[in-house]
Amino acid sequence: MENVVIIGSGCAGWTAAIYTARANLKPLLVTGTQPGGLLTTTTIVENFPGFSKGIDGNVLMMEMQEQATRFGTQVQYMSVIDQVDFSKRPFSLTVDGKEIQAKSVIIATGASHRHLGVPGEHELENKGVTYCATCDGALPMFRDQPLVVVGGGDSACEEAAYLTRFGSTVYLIHRREELRASRIMAERTLANPKIKPIWNTVVEGVLDVSHDQVTGVKLRNVQSNELSTLDCAGVFVAIGHVPNTRLFKGVIDMDEAGFIVPVKGARTNVDGVFVAGDCADSIYRQAITAAGMGCMAGIEAERYLAGFCG
Ligand code: NAP
Repeated sequence: MENVVIIGSGCAGWTAAIYTARANLKPLLVTGTQPGGLLTTTTIVENFPGFSKGIDGNVLMMEMQEQATRFGTQVQYMSVIDQVDFSKRPFSLTVDGKEIQAKSVIIATGASHRHLGVPGEHELENKGVTYCATCDGALPMFRDQPLVVVGGGDSACEEAAYLTRFGSTVYLIHRREELRASRIMAERTLANPKIKPIWNTVVEGVLDVSHDQVTGVKLRNVQSNELSTLDCAGVFVAIGHVPNTRLFKGVIDMDEAGFIVPVKGARTNVDGVFVAGDCADSIYRQAITAAGMGCMAGIEAERYLAGFCG
């Protein structure tokens, strides 16, 4: 019988582990198939407080893991939870086909970037294709170069504005001729002389796999079907996120997009099940906010197990 099972090994999961381990709860953390989560897909993280020179995303996650295990976190590496039953106490979870029981659970399964699914995107990831301007925008490869942002929501607008600090021109490629973003963000975006919107257009491919780096994008106007090529050094895909919450559908309250809706901070609609990080956050999605929520969930689990449910 586990005191607390933490599902997920991103910033939220490891932080929850650090807190619950330091409370002597000997948490069990199940990493999933991408140990370290989304941060391991980026290079240097420059905005995590405490690292004035930046820190490699993988190194940051290894440090968190080290810190969590030093205090007694048990880790099941590369394991996935196949099934959960939160209808009875203790809770039951199936990990790689084997049942475990838990008094409390922290869901920290994160979210995955929605991908374009076009040729060249996957091959050139981290070679000019990225899903996070705040993480990667300041890299030397993007300095004074034309850059492309794909999407028409708040994220795309925010990323485009951020990238104007680094790129020569930021092209905003959107499949419609109206931004989905909030009015203020849309107005700011359209008023920015360094952002050039390209309307009614989709990216059909990222160039150039044979050069092993981004050199441009293939575009198609969805109205005229006209094809074109646009030179650029970076493609920032900002077409939304997909929360990794399918396992909890129908049991844990979530919004239409599948993001878990936290109750009073880090609690969920099921007593004893807590949530942290990007699987419950469609707005901030930063390493530091995920870590903050992990801390909240850890403290909540500790209080719950101590019988304090205020
Ligand atoms: P979003 O609002 O869902 O917008 C996604 C955008 O990507 C839409 O413009 C959509 O086009 C486009 N898109 C989706 N799939 C596509 C595809 N396969 N190919 C091309 N384009 C595609 O996502 P988001 O911008 O990440 O925002 C998510 C939530 O976070 C929103 O509630 C947003 O308000 C919030 N947010 C807030 C802030 C802020 O307030 N500072 C910042 C970031 C995010 P269509 O418009 O045609 O559907």
